[in-house]
Amino acid sequence: MTGRIVISEVGPRDGLQSIAAIMPTEAKKAWIAAEAGAGVREIEVGSFVPARILPQLADTAELVAFARSLPGLTVAALVPNLKGALAAVEAGAHKITLPLSVSETHSQKNLRRSHAEVLDEVRAIAEHLRSLPAARRPRFEGGLSTAFGCTLEGPVPTAQVLRLGEALLAAGADEVGLADTTGYANPTMVRERVTRLREVVGEDCFAGLHLHNTRGLGLANVLAGLEVGVTTFDSSLGGLGGCPFAPGASGNVVTEDLVFMLQSMGLDTGIDLPRLLEVRAVVKAALPGEPLYGFTPEAGLPLGFKQAEAGS
Ligand code: ZN
Repeated sequence: MTGRIVISEVGPRDGLQSIAAIMPTEAKKAWIAAEAGAGVREIEVGSFVPARILPQLADTAELVAFARSLPGLTVAALVPNLKGALAAVEAGAHKITLPLSVSETHSQKNLRRSHAEVLDEVRAIAEHLRSLPAARRPRFEGGLSTAFGCTLEGPVPTAQVLRLGEALLAAGADEVGLADTTGYANPTMVRERVTRLREVVGEDCFAGLHLHNTRGLGLANVLAGLEVGVTTFDSSLGGLGGCPFAPGASGNVVTEDLVFMLQSMGLDTGIDLPRLLEVRAVVKAALPGEPLYGFTPEAGLPLGFKQAEAGS
């Protein structure tokens, strides 16, 4: 395990969509700018869904435009369909992710779409992207959500994950990622599914892991991913979002704890951890009463903690 690990901050999207409070746009900008300032190189700033469904994310286009002004930052956004993808391209997103729920029941109930219908959207998006000049063409990830289990279906077979991963690429996605939307993953499963998916889609087309900490296995699952060569992980500052069914459990893996683990293992994230810890104050002030999670921020950095040096 050496080299650079990419941490993709998804709090402004995954965290904020999971809570009722609406963070003011200016506070979101301050959050995004502060995290970029701490060295975070990729941020998913929102989702291009209709405002009546997720009013918390209604300002995504404005945030994409703002985040693009921050030097060196990859600006990512979630898109549920072609309409969302068109809006994301218009706003100038560098990367778009379309989620495909491996569980067909979840896909029908949450997105009101079958697998075939979602794959039709992927084809339409890919076709549109191909018509764009290279400079305006975002990277297009197909995100396999509920890839480790589903609250509606229970276990999700590996074969189904592999089949849909292949289908996403065949439909025109550039890369495929695995998401533990529901906190069902364990380290053995992570090792197995990542390894097998990469065999099927190819090393270069595996995007990374999106892990939740619903049952406390988030960092253990990250470690399992590292062991099989994963270099990109999603996480959210303060584990924002939580889980309504698991009081005390954070939503996504907590960015601060993830950075602490990686840096103390000697892995380079490019992130200045003391500066990252300061970003919590920005989020806290904008979301009064909303719990923020994380052990490292509570405990503080251990005496003699050394940041991994860039390029080490
Ligand atoms: Zn998620």
